[in-house]
Amino acid sequence: MIGTIHVIGAGIAGLACAVSATKAGQKVVLYEATKHAGGRCRSFFDTQLGKTLDNGSHAVLGANPNVFEYLKLLGADNELVAVEKTGCIPFVDVETGEQWTLKPDDGLIPKWIFDETRRAPGTRSLDYIRGLRLIVAGGQQTVSSVIPDVGTGWDRFWEPLSTAIMNTNANQASARLLGQALWQAIKTWSGGLKSYVPRQSLDQTFIAPALTYLKKSNAAIHFDSPLASIHGDERVTELQFRANTVSLSPGDTVVATLPPWSSAIGHLLPNAFDPRPSPIINVHYEIDPNLEYPAMMAVIGGTAQWAFTRPGLISVTVSADQDLARLDHLDIAGRLWQDIKTAFALGETPLPRHRVIVERRATPIQDPTFASNRPGPQTSMPNLLLAGDWTDTGLPCTLESAVKSGFKAAELARSQA
Ligand SMILES: Cc1cc2nc3c(=O)[nH]c(=O)nc-3n(C[C@H](O)[C@H](O)[C@H](O)COP(=O)(O)OP(=O)(O)OC[C@H]3O[C@@H](n4cnc5c(N)ncnc54)[C@H](O)[C@@H]3O)c2cc1C
Repeated sequence: MIGTIHVIGAGIAGLACAVSATKAGQKVVLYEATKHAGGRCRSFFDTQLGKTLDNGSHAVLGANPNVFEYLKLLGADNELVAVEKTGCIPFVDVETGEQWTLKPDDGLIPKWIFDETRRAPGTRSLDYIRGLRLIVAGGQQTVSSVIPDVGTGWDRFWEPLSTAIMNTNANQASARLLGQALWQAIKTWSGGLKSYVPRQSLDQTFIAPALTYLKKSNAAIHFDSPLASIHGDERVTELQFRANTVSLSPGDTVVATLPPWSSAIGHLLPNAFDPRPSPIINVHYEIDPNLEYPAMMAVIGGTAQWAFTRPGLISVTVSADQDLARLDHLDIAGRLWQDIKTAFALGETPLPRHRVIVERRATPIQDPTFASNRPGPQTSMPNLLLAGDWTDTGLPCTLESAVKSGFKAAELARSQA
């Protein structure tokens, strides 16, 4: 019996699941708690700045095959653009004023680490080679127990990379998860470390094409529909939403793509799985639209970590900084502006109009305990599947993990139909 797939949550995992199932000819109903899709990867119109902003700048690596597959399914692959044709990443150290460009090359043998003009100044080849130990790290090891968290190689390469990918401090972050991301980049062979960003906004690249496709394909989408609870003994028989109840037919499958702290699914998760949230802070600063800067730049030696630019806007990202996340928004904006003025040589330019967004639950803290207790897609009820970046995809909690989990859930639902 071919039933309906009820996808709960219209973040990237839910959209990937809904798109993949719809493409395979299955009937899909998508339910989202809020009035918009995208979840942690969304855009909105900021009336104060008069611009569409992203909740946080997102970058994707060449080694993210599921993200590229998702965009290809939607005919939106040209909505993601490489930050530099060559895959180079500009760096600035705001403490010393030094600037350099990291020039990783393609292929299984990273030749660039043997060329001092392509790696960070003051680093040695060995600093990078050491990181390969992450790939074979034990399940209980943290990043800083595998790569010593001191020295130039740490400050100028591993620390920025680890914090950006893991959104977790290195003394807590799972070495194995970071190692998996590294292995994906190496085995991609060509352009694994190349960074891509949305052409205009997260919505235009990842969300709007999916909604257009789903609507055209007659998938039903219900916004403003928070799931309160899931009912049934051996199988799910009923979904209780805030305003209504949906009874399931025998061939129906539910794919819950909710955050792990959602009370609707909490009781379905293993007891040992108790993820704690880690924040990401973004500040969007209005700048002169005639100024031109690199699309993405790593900032080290201060509080800011990454800067993304678009005409008229510099957006600054800081991951895993719990102390910064607790500050008043004006303090956050002022503190990061000090770094940005140095990084972009803006002299004494006063703090411009800005918007601060603190995502307190950007991802779980991805420590070894989290990594070893993440549940897979299957639950005790055969017609209830889980998806989301936090489920056990073997990868850090990123867009790649979210899409991979959504595709996997759609495939499992198909095989059960
Ligand atoms: C600021 C920030 C920057 C980031 N930067 C990057 C980056 O550079 N690169 C990268 O790869 N990843 C990045 N990420 C991570 C990435 O955004 C996530 O991995 C991804 O969006 C997770 O998607 P998801 O579908 O698993 O979860 P979510 O996006 O959380 O989706 C869950 C959905 O379920 C809905 N929902 C919740 N409760 C209910 C309910 N009861 N009923 C119905 N619906 C419900 C939510 O509203 C949401 O739409 C970043 C995240 C943040 C916050």
